[in-house]
Amino acid sequence: MKLVLDEEETWIIECIKEAHIDCGFHVRDVIKKAKARYGLSRSTVYEIVSYLEFHGLVKTNKSGNRELDQSISYFVTCPVCGKEIPGNEYILENGKSICEDCYLEEHQRIKFADPMAVRSKKLFRKNHGLEGTEGLTDIQKELYKFIQVEGGVTPEKISKLFGLTPQEARNQLAILRHCELVKWRKIGDEICIVPFDS
Ligand SMILES: [Zn+2]
Repeated sequence: MKLVLDEEETWIIECIKEAHIDCGFHVRDVIKKAKARYGLSRSTVYEIVSYLEFHGLVKTNKSGNRELDQSISYFVTCPVCGKEIPGNEYILENGKSICEDCYLEEHQRIKFADPMAVRSKKLFRKNHGLEGTEGLTDIQKELYKFIQVEGGVTPEKISKLFGLTPQEARNQLAILRHCELVKWRKIGDEICIVPFDS
């Protein structure tokens, strides 16, 4: 069964990720974050956490704490274009989980004459004589270099090492992915980012 989460459920997932410490997460910390950021009530948080538990996304680990099971896949619906996107590919912006295409169209972080005209960023870059990391910002170039050296790295590691918020790291990676410089790959239990040609 395909699990598609709504907006509030996606917020809770984001709060859980942030509240996660080594031994799991505590609902109290999720409630604090969800209340401060999204104005969700305690009972809504409990309700959503138990829904996520029902679907296996939240499980109880060996130490008896709740944790997120990253191996369970889910989808979210992009509020801009309505496309269903895998839970590890959306970009959270102002509380909205949007797809990479809509994110790039909104931001046009990579400045080209008409990014709307061409669906494939790679083709577009090629037509404009941009190869490899040309046209990227310094941080994007650094990230790409790092991923090439490391082979496979989790977005969490990138956000820690480069001092980016998890969201910022994911946004930068989305741009690299669109340029077909990197791609996602499941390594063991982890979703990693690897060089595109690996
Ligand atoms: Zn979209």
